[in-house]
Amino acid sequence: MAHDHATVAEEEYLQSIFWLQEAGLPMTGANVARAMQLSAPTVHEMVNRLEKDGYITRRDDKSLKFTKSGLEHAEAIVRRHRMIERFLTDVLGIPWDEVHEEAERLEHAMSPVLEERMLAAIGDAKNCPHGHPIDPADRVPGVPLADCDAGAKVTILRFENEAEDLLHYLMNSGVYPGLDAVVESTGDDEVAIRSGKGEHVLTTSVAETISVTADPSPPPRTALPEQLVLAKERYGR
Ligand SMILES: [Zn+2]
Ligand SMILES: [Zn+2]
Repeated sequence: MAHDHATVAEEEYLQSIFWLQEAGLPMTGANVARAMQLSAPTVHEMVNRLEKDGYITRRDDKSLKFTKSGLEHAEAIVRRHRMIERFLTDVLGIPWDEVHEEAERLEHAMSPVLEERMLAAIGDAKNCPHGHPIDPADRVPGVPLADCDAGAKVTILRFENEAEDLLHYLMNSGVYPGLDAVVESTGDDEVAIRSGKGEHVLTTSVAETISVTADPSPPPRTALPEQLVLAKERYGR
């Protein structure tokens, strides 16, 4: 039987598993551990609890699969997270590189009434400030900026990794979702793009975490698990 109310730790795990699913990555305990920066035994224990509480089941190959209730919980928490981030930037004026951790805290403590009010306050915003669709069904496929060739026209779709130190780096680089640019050069260490605002130089490892639409476009590729670190906050210890 699924419980009506998942614990904070369970919600964090459901969210992480959902991110793996959204990114097309194998939903395994090892990938959950990487995304949450937790040890394998810690994750193993929580995965057992999620299974016992009716949120996930295991496939024959031991990978994880949401139950109907688990998917509903995961989508609800992801939607709330992205909506809170948008509320913090658009209504409270907080810079977008400072809202992820706040949303991580607030998302577990909201009444349906507050959620409704917040949704009304953000108007018709469709994405979180990092480019993730508030309704997960609206996700647009993208390719990593690091895969694009010099000369390609790109539009930044979203930042796949919302760890705040990375968001600070992106903010300082002057890039943001929706920015149009042309790839100037790509290398093993750096990717340089030029937008109407000037040149932006990013490390290649950061460019791996930026999803773009590109013309011409490289073939699609799923992100690597290490690129999907959700937050520095640790749960379940
Ligand atoms: Zn976030
Ligand atoms: Zn976000």
